[in-house]
Amino acid sequence: MDPALGDLACGDVLVRNGRIAAVGENLDPAGAEIVDATNCIVLPGFVDGHRHVWQTQLRGVATDWTIVDYMVHMRTLYCVCYEPEDAYLGNYVGGLEALAAGVTSVVDHSHLQISPEYSDALASGLLDSGVGGVFCYGFYNNPPYRPGDSIDVASIRNRVFAPVEEWHVPNAKRIRDRYFTAAGALRFGIAASEVFMIPFDLAAKELNAAWSLEPALVTAHWACTARADRTPTMIPELHRAGHLHRNMLFTHCNNFSRADFQIVAALGAGVCATPDTELGMGMGFPVQEKMLAAHGSVAFGADICSNVAGDLFGQMRLALQSQRWRGFEASEQLPTSMPITARRYLEIATRIGAEALGMADEIGTLTPGKRADVILVRTDSISTSPSNDPVGTLMFYANASDVDTVLVAGEFRKRNGSLVGVNWPEVRERLVRSRDQIMDRLARIPFAKVREVWHDALTG
Ligand SMILES: [Zn+2]
Repeated sequence: MDPALGDLACGDVLVRNGRIAAVGENLDPAGAEIVDATNCIVLPGFVDGHRHVWQTQLRGVATDWTIVDYMVHMRTLYCVCYEPEDAYLGNYVGGLEALAAGVTSVVDHSHLQISPEYSDALASGLLDSGVGGVFCYGFYNNPPYRPGDSIDVASIRNRVFAPVEEWHVPNAKRIRDRYFTAAGALRFGIAASEVFMIPFDLAAKELNAAWSLEPALVTAHWACTARADRTPTMIPELHRAGHLHRNMLFTHCNNFSRADFQIVAALGAGVCATPDTELGMGMGFPVQEKMLAAHGSVAFGADICSNVAGDLFGQMRLALQSQRWRGFEASEQLPTSMPITARRYLEIATRIGAEALGMADEIGTLTPGKRADVILVRTDSISTSPSNDPVGTLMFYANASDVDTVLVAGEFRKRNGSLVGVNWPEVRERLVRSRDQIMDRLARIPFAKVREVWHDALTG
């Protein structure tokens, strides 16, 4: 993925002290441990720009949800059914899921910050998994009730639609100082609320609070409500007032204008497209080509773990084929040329995605000096054999089970097809027990009453 080095048919990657020391043919191992990558493709770890990792226990509950269903159910009902230990486990296993699929960096948009205890659980769960990327503390007022409480409809509205509560800022600072360093593989960031949907003054105040925490990244959902005519993006206004900066990652952006993309690209900030959830839940068409056309950087994200798997193979493929069809459809003829190469989307999942996160100096290519986030994908499995084109193998044949080895900052996280240091039967038992308890609590909430409040608020 390093354009200067190109692809090697056969070669070596030398790792030293967590960094890539050299890439080339017949390198002197200089006493290093040898990892035999015969019948493997060696490439940089995948970069996921947007994921709600805490939802791991809820796989499949969102299968037939629209984005409105998701906002109503996940962010007002399922969320309050988590206890801190569920938050820990969701992030721990979700981090492992990413690693198992070769995703070495993930932007965790973590909006389950119900109380300080949850924040500790979420941060330590993701850290304990060993995945790299950015833990983005979510500025979101979770609903003020617990399973079994009587529901006061007015208080839900007043709290959730109010400005971000004051306690979040010192709490986020505490989490940053306790768990994260600027040089760690997993860094501290902020996930702002949907600031494009709130009055300008509140959006400005919230972004000021975010920047005051000196985060590695500020991310937010943006312009994904399929209401381009009625919901302005606020990008020009926030930009003119100096609230947007280089280390920002704008997620979805389905309703961005060309000018919005140009502003974000000129800042050097990034965009993240989440093809599965945007296409499948009704947010809009993925914008990777629009951002690239504006000479900006874009990443892919799996987004909603309760809806789709946490790998990037599926995201790359869906984005590529739906975008190819757009090109073919416009011509109304049998196609005679291919509008987009597969390699371009493999680059979005690695090199270009790293640029979108503002981490191009650190990750995204196998380049000497960068962090040793390296993965090996098998070409001799039942799915991938024989491999006639490595890009095609990765884009159209490989799946998470073909990821043989994963290193994050030179540490083995997966080896010979198994996660390192993880007793999966024991972890799985805890995960299933946690799921059972979440579902038991869910049954104690007056579902219909809460849903009504939210549905009206979101669609009215
Ligand atoms: Zn999201």
